[in-house]
Amino acid sequence: MKANRKSTQLIHTDRYAELRLILEDRRRELSTEIQSKMRAVRAIGPADSAQGVVDAEEASVSDIQEDIEIALMQMKAETLSRVTEALSRLEEGSYGFCYECGEEISQPRLRALPFALRCKDCEEERELAAAREKFVSTRRGSTSILMDMTS
Ligand SMILES: [Zn+2]
Repeated sequence: MKANRKSTQLIHTDRYAELRLILEDRRRELSTEIQSKMRAVRAIGPADSAQGVVDAEEASVSDIQEDIEIALMQMKAETLSRVTEALSRLEEGSYGFCYECGEEISQPRLRALPFALRCKDCEEERELAAAREKFVSTRRGSTSILMDMTS
């Protein structure tokens, strides 16, 4: 299962050495957090059932907290997979190139967003397209509200 050994055999250019360190740090940090959270969730479980009777209010509060914890953990797990993906792209040598146009992503951009998949231009284009889509759907939404009000 461990694919880490491969990385030591590959020669990395200095260009990405710093980013690699950032990504590896991030990966270590995230997996530690996720692991400790998972242990905490597991620890909460049996304690709850041992108490036996929990009134509804208490139960719902702990449910909400649990939901938040799970949502946070999912977010962290997602980031972790992006970091891992970036690291594997680094190993493949495809790291730092735009997913859309294949152009090199600028260093300042990568430093700010170590797991950016697109260059600035392509990302902006994508965001613009997404914003346009959102604009259309919100306009549609407000039109229907207006129609509701007038009817
Ligand atoms: Zn691009």
